[in-house]
Formats: sequence, C-alpha cells, structure tokens
Amino acid sequence: MPSNRDLRVHFVNVNHGDATILEFPDDGLSPIARFGVIDFGAKKADDRGLIRDYLNALIQVRVDGVQITDYVIEFACCTHPHNDHYGGLKRFMDVFSDRVNTKNRVNAFWDCGFRTNSPEYNQILVDILANQNIRFLRLGSGSEFKFGNVRIAVLAPSVDLRNRFDTYGIGKNDASIVLKVKFGNSFVILTGDAEFASWGKSTEEFPRREEIEFYADALGLAERDETADQLKCDLLKLSHHGSMHGTSLEYLERIKPNRIVITAGSAAWYQARVSNWVGMFPHPLINTTLDVLEQSINTNIDRKITGDVGNIIYKYTGGWTPRSETQFSDRADSPNFQQVLNAEWTNL
Ligand SMILES: [Zn+2]
Repeated sequence: MPSNRDLRVHFVNVNHGDATILEFPDDGLSPIARFGVIDFGAKKADDRGLIRDYLNALIQVRVDGVQITDYVIEFACCTHPHNDHYGGLKRFMDVFSDRVNTKNRVNAFWDCGFRTNSPEYNQILVDILANQNIRFLRLGSGSEFKFGNVRIAVLAPSVDLRNRFDTYGIGKNDASIVLKVKFGNSFVILTGDAEFASWGKSTEEFPRREEIEFYADALGLAERDETADQLKCDLLKLSHHGSMHGTSLEYLERIKPNRIVITAGSAAWYQARVSNWVGMFPHPLINTTLDVLEQSINTNIDRKITGDVGNIIYKYTGGWTPRSETQFSDRADSPNFQQVLNAEWTNL
C-alpha cells in the first residue's frame, strides 16, 4: 500500500469565500488519511456544499485507489464568523460529524473567540460543544500544533485583540485566525480576513530574527524554522479576498511570498452581482501593491484568483517551492473532477 509523504494544500473554488483543505502526509503506519480544514465558504448558498463535496470526493478517490481505508479530520477551523467562511460549515459537519457521537471524524474545532450575534453560527457552536468527541479550542497567537511532520503555528488573533472583542474597535475580520503551516522548508500562511489591526500585532509579536539558536526539545517544536523572519513564506493566501483593507506593503515585505492565492470570484461573477468596484475583489489597489512589492523584493510573484483558475492543489514535499501545482475548474460530481484527483494520486 503506497504511502503519501507530501503535504497538499487544496484551495476549493467557492467563488467569494474561503475553503481550504490541508492533506497531511500519512504517518506510514496506518492506512488513514488525515486532513485539516480551514473555512467552509461561500457567500452564495449555491456554493456552500462545495467543500463538503470536494472532501468527500477526495476521500473516495483515495479509498478507491486502495491507498487508505479510513480518514480523520484533525481539525476544522473557522477563521472568523462571517458567512463567506462558515457558510458551508453546517453542511460539512452534518456529513463528517454526527451529533450523537457514533461516527465522528472531526477531532477538534478551532474558533477565534469572537462573540458573534449570528444565530446560525451560534447554533453550529452549540452542536459542536454537545459532541464530546470534538475538542473545542479557542486559539490565540503563539499556540503551535503538530500533525506528524507538519507543524501549524497560530499567528493571530493576538490575546491583546481578543481581550477587546467585547469592547471597542475590533471587527470580526481582525478576529481572524491566521495560521502558518510548516513542513520541512515548506511554508504556507493562511490569513482568513485579517486586517491592519491584526497584522500590526502579528508583525510585532513575530519579529524578524537575524540569528536563532536551536535547542532540542522533546516535542520537536523548536526545530529549525525556515528563515530569519518568522513571517516569511512561499505561499500566501492573501487576506480578505484581496481587499485593500487586508493587505499592506509593510507586512508583505516581511512575508515576501513567491506565490499568492486570492479566494475571490471572477470579475464576471462580481459584475453580475455588485454595482460598483467597492464590492468587487480583489480591489484594484492590491495589484498595484503587488507590483510595487515585486520591485521592492526583486521577485516575480505568482498570482492566482480561485474564481479565474478554479480549484488549486499545491503539493509540497518539504522544499521551499511546491513540487506541483494543479488547477481544475469542475465541481465534484463531474467526471473531469474525478480524473484530475485520480491523476494527482497516481504517483505518490
Ligand atoms: Zn471573507
């Protein structure tokens, strides 16, 4: 039975919204696939079953290929309680975690801690809390998790912001959970919709380090981490669908991404739904900012919009750049979708 030694990052095209699946390397001991899921878009009801259907299809391809006999979702993470991030969460949990605990596949649920008045999201939390097999965690910056050889560091929300969630000035977007995924020398940052208040904290709490000394520790959490800059990564999911409120040149110069994914609809998708450019993503200022960044760090930045290219799979093997990138536009019930995923899994 072949074993998967790679980390795959799947961006599911849900038009306007976030839906990301991490497919972890197998542990080499058991034929069980392991996933982490970050956000369950989308803004429009028609698109809200897409991440559930995508993960179901992915699991089926691997079962049919006799690579796995079972699977587990190590965590389901809702970065913040806006419906373009939790819109498909109920549909997702209804399939992967039944409420009577007999067939639960979700080990943990990660929430940002923002006390939202959304009845829909609050009901989802009530259901999750009623399931004793799901560990419910409210994350803050500085936490780190380990799934086999993949480590996930929490960059945001800062406790300083969390302490203000009920008082003044912190909007839902700035409550977003921001994660840095680390696998060998492969680094990916997933941002939710974090805006300037959040990035101000992250750039302060995760400073540049010119030189680091490493000591062995029992958990392996202190092993070498990339570069001098804790925010540097190869792949950045640009914050807030490319909003001008989510991205600044200042922190992009710290992150220095080689490739950027913008989780937004196509221009035609927005034109059919919004009346002016304010409601369209990415905002025009972002392309200018990225143009300036390319000059500033002397690097060409690969830019992709999910609404233009469809679903995207990046396969990382532990090196700085991904070994492969796959783009495909069909929904999970189409033959082409199955063929693409089969091809992805032909050669482990
Ligand atoms: Zn959003």
